[in-house]
Amino acid sequence: MSKIKMWRPQLETLPREELEKKQLKYFVEQMRYVTEKSPFYKRKFKAAGIKPDDIKTMDDVRMVPFTTKQELLKSQEEHPVFGDFPCIKPEKATRVFQTSGTTGKPLKIPLSKKDWFKTYYDQFSYYLCGYGVTSKDVAFFPFTYGTFIAWWGVQATMEQHGVTVIPGGGQTSDARVKSIVDWDATVVCGTPTYVIYLGELAKKLGIDFPNSKVRIVITAGEPGAQVAATKKLIETLYGAKNYDDIGSTEISNFGFECVVQTGTHLIESMFLAESLDVETGKPASEGEVGELVLSNLFCESVPLLRYMTKDLVRFNYQTCDCGRTFLRMDGGVLGRADDMFTFGGVNIFPSAVENFIRGIPTFSNEYQLVIPKQGSGKRMTIRVEPASADITDEQAKNAAKQLLDNIIYNIKITADIDLVAPGTLPRFEGKAKRVIRAS
Ligand SMILES: [Zn+2]
Repeated sequence: MSKIKMWRPQLETLPREELEKKQLKYFVEQMRYVTEKSPFYKRKFKAAGIKPDDIKTMDDVRMVPFTTKQELLKSQEEHPVFGDFPCIKPEKATRVFQTSGTTGKPLKIPLSKKDWFKTYYDQFSYYLCGYGVTSKDVAFFPFTYGTFIAWWGVQATMEQHGVTVIPGGGQTSDARVKSIVDWDATVVCGTPTYVIYLGELAKKLGIDFPNSKVRIVITAGEPGAQVAATKKLIETLYGAKNYDDIGSTEISNFGFECVVQTGTHLIESMFLAESLDVETGKPASEGEVGELVLSNLFCESVPLLRYMTKDLVRFNYQTCDCGRTFLRMDGGVLGRADDMFTFGGVNIFPSAVENFIRGIPTFSNEYQLVIPKQGSGKRMTIRVEPASADITDEQAKNAAKQLLDNIIYNIKITADIDLVAPGTLPRFEGKAKRVIRAS
């Protein structure tokens, strides 16, 4: 195991009771701040008949109404450009980002100078120390100049920590593969889907990633780093460690994996996290799956309280072998509440199916799940393709049978397999879209 390095060792190892005392204090302070600065929250709290002084215990926090993305979008529609939820005036924004808008209109987020240079810096410093990144590292960033938040914050924080940054935007994937080796990069960042794509491209181009200088692959945007077969694949393709990075444009950056690699830590010194049962809305017990609800305790520009992230997680409060007491999300983000589907009475995450597909080398790493309409009586279809044209029909058929057996045995559902020609499934540079719902 690499040496354990922490950004704020004192906070990262606090006993839970003390940690919660601090969280409660910051939560009430943040509530006061938003009541004063954000018309949106002022209105919300008035309607709920609640004041910051009413919150005296952690249980009281649950009296505070949730914040949803729909509300934020509505606020921006009614009060363009940024809506009336931000606590800063538009001219105070130093950086702006927007969500991808895959599930609707994109949401615009302004960040003040303090948030960009201090709050984000703090959050990502927890990450970098967690991964064991140092000023000797050389990081390669294959992303494009735009309003999509991913990697901007990590890059800016790395610069402040003295890491050498190689900008890999505006290049073809072939050129990126060559650049990683040419520049002696030690750290590579990307979505799991894209880093796997680059890793396989390197193999095709005869470029030896496993014997290159790359020692850390940071992935975000999809559950990959916590899906056992996907993590193993990334680590084998690069001969490096793969660490998880979790965050979102709205709530910012809250989760990082440490070098022990047993779940993703939540930055509890900066966020108050709850996991709520999706059906009952009551707190999910430790080890049970729940929806992650987050309150951002230090954001100055767009602090969100009790924000429903739609991320499904499983909390683990045991102290990690790294020494951190920050709770861990076992398996990272297991899936999106929107992506989870119930089939034959079973809740299924695409990431669980992915684990079985990527465990069979006969298949490529791309796949799609086609979900029939509830009650249609049809089976779910798993669309896969052989890893190469050299794979015989017999081999592909055997692999399909193995996959079906694994799915029936482990997930307890029967599915159909649709085997398509090699290279025909879509490839993604950003977040992959794997679930297709029949309309
Ligand atoms: Zn740890």
